[in-house]
Amino acid sequence: MKCRDVVSHPPITVTPDKTLEEAVELLANHDVGLLVVVDRDNPRRPIGVLSERDVVRAIGWKAPLTVTVREAGTFTGLIYVYADDPVEKAFEVMMKHNIRHVLVLEQNGNLLGVISIRDLAKFCKLSSG
Ligand code: AMP
Repeated sequence: MKCRDVVSHPPITVTPDKTLEEAVELLANHDVGLLVVVDRDNPRRPIGVLSERDVVRAIGWKAPLTVTVREAGTFTGLIYVYADDPVEKAFEVMMKHNIRHVLVLEQNGNLLGVISIRDLAKFCKLSSG
């Protein structure tokens, strides 16, 4: 099975100028644990991520809800797989980097979606029958 078979898409995205408050609203309303940060001019190009973990960290540091996604998110070392990679590759990178989400890109670098640990749990259930 390939990553494209388990990916959740379309991804829930946010732009870096939004506030933490707006981002939390998106996380809650869409029942996801990660937002993909995209360029306003090119919504298929991921430039960062903001996960629940980042929200917890920001609140732990007493940041106000008015801080921007740019300040609270992760913008370096984006971790991704390609849609045609085997799904085991998604497991591998999550374990290696200790993250619960991995971006899934098309061969041309466009964002297809996100695989979360929850998607992989569903995949395990399916394959164990
Ligand atoms: P997570 O366990 O996936 O909720 O996230 C843990 C930390 O890793 C947070 O600081 C995220 O911003 C970061 N993170 C999560 N997924 C990715 C990814 N695909 N690429 C880079 N950083 C990520």
